[in-house]
Amino acid sequence: REVRVCVAASCQSSGSLPVLEALTQACGDGGGACRVKGVGCMGLCSAGPLVAVADKDCGLADSVLYRDVTPDDASDIMGSLCGAPVERLRCPTDQPFFARQQKVVLENSGVIDPDSFKGYVAVGGYAALVQALSEMTPADVLREVTASGLRGRGGGGYPTGLKWSTVAKMPAGQKYVICNADEGDPGAFMDRAVLESDPHRVLEGMAIAAYAIGANKAYVYVRAEYPLAVERLQTAIRKAKRAGFLGSKVADTQFSFEVEIRLGAGAFVCGEETALMASIEGLRGQPRPRPPYPAESGLWGCPTLINNVESFANIAPIIRNGGDWFAGIGTEKSKGTKVFALAGKIQNTGLIEVPMGTSLRDIIEVIGGGIPDGKAFKAVQTGGPSGGCIPEQHLDIAVDYDSLKTLGTMMGSGGMIVMDETSCMVDVARYFMEFCMTESCGKCIPCRAGTQQMHGLLDKIAKGQGAHADLALLEELCEVVQATSLCGLGQTAPNPVLSTLRYFRDEYEEKLAGG
Ligand code: SF4
Repeated sequence: REVRVCVAASCQSSGSLPVLEALTQACGDGGGACRVKGVGCMGLCSAGPLVAVADKDCGLADSVLYRDVTPDDASDIMGSLCGAPVERLRCPTDQPFFARQQKVVLENSGVIDPDSFKGYVAVGGYAALVQALSEMTPADVLREVTASGLRGRGGGGYPTGLKWSTVAKMPAGQKYVICNADEGDPGAFMDRAVLESDPHRVLEGMAIAAYAIGANKAYVYVRAEYPLAVERLQTAIRKAKRAGFLGSKVADTQFSFEVEIRLGAGAFVCGEETALMASIEGLRGQPRPRPPYPAESGLWGCPTLINNVESFANIAPIIRNGGDWFAGIGTEKSKGTKVFALAGKIQNTGLIEVPMGTSLRDIIEVIGGGIPDGKAFKAVQTGGPSGGCIPEQHLDIAVDYDSLKTLGTMMGSGGMIVMDETSCMVDVARYFMEFCMTESCGKCIPCRAGTQQMHGLLDKIAKGQGAHADLALLEELCEVVQATSLCGLGQTAPNPVLSTLRYFRDEYEEKLAGG
């Protein structure tokens, strides 16, 4: 049997490393009849440290799961291996949080040791890359990815197959692959968890992409604030290279593929692809106008494919199972699954993966367990600072790229912040505007000055010092900044204001009336 201890950042922050140590010690004291290993994120971060006792080959759902484990529980857990589970620590795996998810991207998270190359290979890792290199032409790979209907998981939702095909069609020569791991939305930690839990999966997806478009060099641009993700990625690159799955003559073929890590210094705007490329080139991380798009003229003027972590993590299963398999999950226009980070006033905070088209109500009330402390739900914020706040009356909407836009918000990369009845929506709008104001790179005036102006007005209104003329000016500024800013940061900065005005105007009016 295996005792698996979550050693992703969330569980580490609640003390999982001493638990791992205590369990390893207790296992040794018991004659080493079982194996204790650190694994990636099991999802239910609010219940950490999480420990799963599993038969060696089974997934999380078939394990006995323990929550809030302390080092003092180690001997009880070890003592239970051949008998009854420790009921006082038990976390049911048939509860909706686990039972209602469908794992594709996260299938290895919480199951394999992220630092173990052999562990990844044992669950079918790198088989898709070998299959692509030995049985498929680059055109075959492009066909499968296109057939899958996968759309960019970074937020834009651009069809991945189309993006790959555009870069593949560019004349042969130096091309690049970039993995955008500059996750910066407040409350979002999907990419961090994937990199911490299953880094080889991302590398495998990148290698397949490089083969398909004719590239041999790649960068992972990852936030320096994610030291654990960076460390695991470095280990994965080193081990994959040693095993012949990166470097020259990958898997004994003529295909060569090198990956380097570039650390982002924490500027939110560097998640924008042109700013990200400037940062890799050693320049100041500021966006530039598009076109030209990176597919035609990207890194150092060469055709460049940029996808985010979750997009690349979907590639191996698409190649392994076929594009049609993937296209069978989700909705007509949004295929596959989506990873979301649940945060804020929700019972089960953590990481989930559900088929596209799952309703927000299911995500929040069923999987998320609803609002704690008997409070009422007020809104859920999706899409980070570019998104908006969705009220109760729209909770039955299916979550996909297109339907969220009809509510004035967007899917974004997958952060969901839930708010209860005590949240003030003017404060929420002010918070997101402050974020955009602080993160604005200052290159263009509408965003640089507009976010400051809007923040000032929101601050005045939130403090009960605003007038109706301030609200009118705020709405006018929203329109101007949206229409005239250079990049997505400025263009979408007004969204939280506009959506709170749309659904919670009464709260603004109350503040104006001195409430
Ligand atoms: Fe910089 Fe904002 Fe202009 Fe984007 S919109 S280029 S972040 S100033």
